[in-house]
Amino acid sequence: MTTPAVSPGHFQLIWRHGKIMPAHRQEWLYYHFQIVVTRTNRSREALVPSSFHLHVLASGSAGNAAAVSGPAGWILIDIGLNTADLRRRVALAGLDPSACLGCLLTHTHGDHWRDSALGWLAARGIPLWLHPGHMAELENQSRAIHTLKAAALTRGFEAMSDFSPGRGFRAIPAEVSHDSHPTFGFRLELSDPDDSRGQQGHLGFFSDLGTWNPGHRNLLEGLDLLALEFNYDHELLGGSPRPDFLKRRIAGPKGHLSNIQAGEVIANSRSGKRLQSLVLLHLSRECNTPAKALVEARSAAKAVGTINRVEVALQDAPTPSLPIGQETARGASLMDGDFGPLFRCAGK
Ligand SMILES: [Zn+2]
Ligand SMILES: [Zn+2]
Repeated sequence: MTTPAVSPGHFQLIWRHGKIMPAHRQEWLYYHFQIVVTRTNRSREALVPSSFHLHVLASGSAGNAAAVSGPAGWILIDIGLNTADLRRRVALAGLDPSACLGCLLTHTHGDHWRDSALGWLAARGIPLWLHPGHMAELENQSRAIHTLKAAALTRGFEAMSDFSPGRGFRAIPAEVSHDSHPTFGFRLELSDPDDSRGQQGHLGFFSDLGTWNPGHRNLLEGLDLLALEFNYDHELLGGSPRPDFLKRRIAGPKGHLSNIQAGEVIANSRSGKRLQSLVLLHLSRECNTPAKALVEARSAAKAVGTINRVEVALQDAPTPSLPIGQETARGASLMDGDFGPLFRCAGK
């Protein structure tokens, strides 16, 4: 629920109403009243908050899961948490489990799925979207995947072939370079099918990749929010007690993105005039710090020029609810903006 906006001069304040979390006072404060201050010249028009949000529930080598919510429900990207953690973090994010429309899998490394969490999907009748290569892996490793299959709750996707995991969601899977074959990042196109204003959101989500494929640049065009891996700092990795073969694996083209590499992806993204928010994913606890990752992210954000929010996703606590898409004046459509043509997937 959103209260009516008030307009003191050229600024507008919007109060967002969320869940009360009495056990976690800080989260209570955050979720209950989120005050958004937006500079605007349209002082007589009320701003409408974005309908779409990213909630990174957990990020890092001990477990990964993220939720993307919209008016028609929400989807998961990866499900690498045990069911107790998953339930708790879904509740902290203020998400209703019965509104979960599906789960997309990036790859089959053990920090991106848990058998018990696949069982949670099966028990709730939530489909799992995965590549045939993932299915072949999981069939050997998971009991719950057979339950999902028997209940006709598995759905296949192919690289660069878009699909809809739920009403209002369109996903474009892009294969990335990582040592779990195949691994995917996603571009998500979000729309509110019942909103005549045509609100839209555009999200890029790329975790676990050793190098960025410049051929994927069009996937970053017109994004509102980019969630990207910032895995390690070169010096901390070099000085860590890890064996050399592991250091080479992490820093190799099928390992993980360093802070510097991720900053370069953002600085060279040509993302257009919409990109407002960055979320830094999958930070190594041993070979990185939020402060070091933020240095590179902030300098990349400066180069882009439109980014006004940078969040670090952590292992142990969900991020705040992060808006995807600009807040629009009531009656206006984001499609009126002057950004360039959006990426369209071949064949659609
Ligand atoms: Zn991972
Ligand atoms: Zn991985």
